[in-house]
Amino acid sequence: MEGERKQVVRKVRRVLIKIGSGVLTTSDAGIDLDIIQNLADDIGELSCRGIQCVLVSSGAIASGKGRLGIKGPLKNLPQKQAAAAVGQSILMDSYSRAFARHGLIVAQMLLTMSDLVDRHRYLNIRNTLTTLMEWKVIPIINENDTVSVEEIKFGDNDNLASMMASVMEAELLINLTNTEGLYDCNPRLFPDRARLIPLVREVTDEIEAFTSDEADPLGTGGMKSKVMAARKVTSFGIPCIIAPGKRKGILADIFAGKERGTLFLPSKSHMSSKKFWIAFTLRSRGKLYLDDGAVAAIVEKGKSLLPSGIMRVEGAFSTGDPVTCVDSKGAAVAKGLVNYSSEDLEKIKGLKTSRIEQVLGSKPYDEVIHRDNMAVSGTKK
Ligand code: GLU
Repeated sequence: MEGERKQVVRKVRRVLIKIGSGVLTTSDAGIDLDIIQNLADDIGELSCRGIQCVLVSSGAIASGKGRLGIKGPLKNLPQKQAAAAVGQSILMDSYSRAFARHGLIVAQMLLTMSDLVDRHRYLNIRNTLTTLMEWKVIPIINENDTVSVEEIKFGDNDNLASMMASVMEAELLINLTNTEGLYDCNPRLFPDRARLIPLVREVTDEIEAFTSDEADPLGTGGMKSKVMAARKVTSFGIPCIIAPGKRKGILADIFAGKERGTLFLPSKSHMSSKKFWIAFTLRSRGKLYLDDGAVAAIVEKGKSLLPSGIMRVEGAFSTGDPVTCVDSKGAAVAKGLVNYSSEDLEKIKGLKTSRIEQVLGSKPYDEVIHRDNMAVSGTKK
């Protein structure tokens, strides 16, 4: 097993390290500076070896609460946002001091989901990140909590980390948390029989189903969101390790190929960065119900979607919007950018391509969704 670990880490030159609130803080006391220093020591060492590290760090809300002396849970979203505004600068200051001991400079990047949904902003984020990495600066990313409301939220930093791993084209995602890794059942509920799973070759629905979304009191995700993040990045070809972040030397151990936490192996065939963006970043604006022939053409034959295979259109969307394609039972088979609005699709659904012009007065495209703009579930093509 260790051989497999060594193989995974051997060639890694770009790594995204996600650090959860539960790792960095101690219940109500705010940030644990020793933990930050331990992590910075390991990362300093990796940087010396030429490995580019990008961090996604939680802990803004928790450290804000600590500084404000607030005990117990925050009451509502404005309180969380205000605590994050206090805590984010404390968090960055702590990182800045810890990395300075290794002569390293840090950079803060605060993002919302809407920044990644917009293709131009997405590319700007990528350019900034690339430049920081060229400069050997350590980017530290967090959700921009003070502006983030439900519609533009990543939801949790596990999701943010999976998105950023694809943006930076990481070769490994390390998700540091306050448990040892993924267990076969909830270790808090069944401490006697829960066993750590060292290796996951493929994240299946079954694995996702037995994980809990019960989160650490200071974080948001729970194990479920960590496994979902692992599923996303592995479908993009990036391996993921969920590991205990409070353990001294954890990153050094991982890079030495030691068996720590749970390793998720990458899928053999994987999506391009554009298809990953379509599949996981964009929010679907509607649904197209397809007949069996269209489903088979898309899933098995790698074809584009034509109007003839569409049985029903749901939702109001415009040209260029992301929509989900579902089979007759409503199960999602693909997601893609549509060439026609919902209004036009109502008129041309079920028709042959040759009839589009007659019905709409013009035919800008043959396909409703072109294959290049479509991410298909399961096939990774
Ligand atoms: N962005 C939040 C913070 O820094 C944490 C979100 C999360 O842990 O998922 O406090």
